[in-house]
Amino acid sequence: MVVVDGSQGEGGGQIFRTSLTLAMQLGQPVQIKNIRVGRAKPGLLRQHLTCLRAAQTVCGAEVSGAKPGSTEVIFKPGKVEAGEYRFAIGSAGSTTLVLQTVLLPLFFAERSSELYLEGGTHNGFAPSYDFIERCFLPAIRRMGYQAEVALERFGFYPSGGGAWRILVEPVQELQALALTERGEVLSRQAVATSAHIPKHVTERELGQVQKRCYWASHELQQRLVDSAGPGNILSLQVASEQVTEVVEVVGEKQVTAERVAGRAIQRLKSYLDSGVPVGEYLADQLLLPMVCGNGGQFRTLTPSQHLLTNIEVIKQLAGVKVTAQQESKRVWRISV
Ligand code: ATP
Repeated sequence: MVVVDGSQGEGGGQIFRTSLTLAMQLGQPVQIKNIRVGRAKPGLLRQHLTCLRAAQTVCGAEVSGAKPGSTEVIFKPGKVEAGEYRFAIGSAGSTTLVLQTVLLPLFFAERSSELYLEGGTHNGFAPSYDFIERCFLPAIRRMGYQAEVALERFGFYPSGGGAWRILVEPVQELQALALTERGEVLSRQAVATSAHIPKHVTERELGQVQKRCYWASHELQQRLVDSAGPGNILSLQVASEQVTEVVEVVGEKQVTAERVAGRAIQRLKSYLDSGVPVGEYLADQLLLPMVCGNGGQFRTLTPSQHLLTNIEVIKQLAGVKVTAQQESKRVWRISV
């Protein structure tokens, strides 16, 4: 059985999730050791346990080590079955990361699947629902992966309570990814979302975008929503000819609306100035669809630890050659 060291590189939950995904995809048992051992709360948290349960459910896997705080798991996958599944985290843990654990194997099942996911949808340390809808899914559609999403309820940290659906279609024909240019900017949208917090917070966030980036009023959207608890997120979305980038910063207590907007603006500026199509977060998320599909290449910013670690885990489990080549000071080309 392949043994993966969960403490390598970035040392986070992504090593665990990537291992589960590839174990299912390749029909190969895996043992993951030292899971998140360097983190303040080591081992499996609720979010990771839900990922494990989801993976086990869709393929009828034999699993050992599935308990809170566990740092070692053995996962022996069975056949991946399409179906209607409901996965609830029971906290504000990220539903999008649960999706990403099972998404690729479900694309390769015989029929379509529908997933209903409950928990956090916009919590800052993971892709938000909007990131999945506007950035991730359109990017993988280019390779031939078809999925549609619908949001039912927002779930912020710490209350959670969000819910959404995704319909995953079985793949027909896949193409290699070629995402090396961004193309012209076609449209921009700043979306400031909040639930149960004063309206002036989102107004001030959007005000900063208008003042500092000169975005026009029709490019600013205030989204006042209901949720189980309070929450705020600013999302800057830039649609270019080849890709849409979504940069998001979650509002926190003790951090002013101006500061939240400042962080998002700075990150977006860094992306726009670099000229690359693929931003930091999309970069590590594109690897699995490429590895499970027909490979390809993209250009991105200096690789994050997440990206480098994901490359190592993929090399180890799938035996696929993934290269990260520096082209200029801040531009890298990733090829699978
Ligand atoms: P940890 O073990 O560190 O607590 P975790 O299990 O929550 O972490 P990570 O290993 O940190 O997860 O992986 C987080 C994933 O979320 C990565 O794929 C990363 O690209 C993505 N991500 C994080 N922040 C954002 C963001 N703001 N926008 C989009 N994607 C994000």
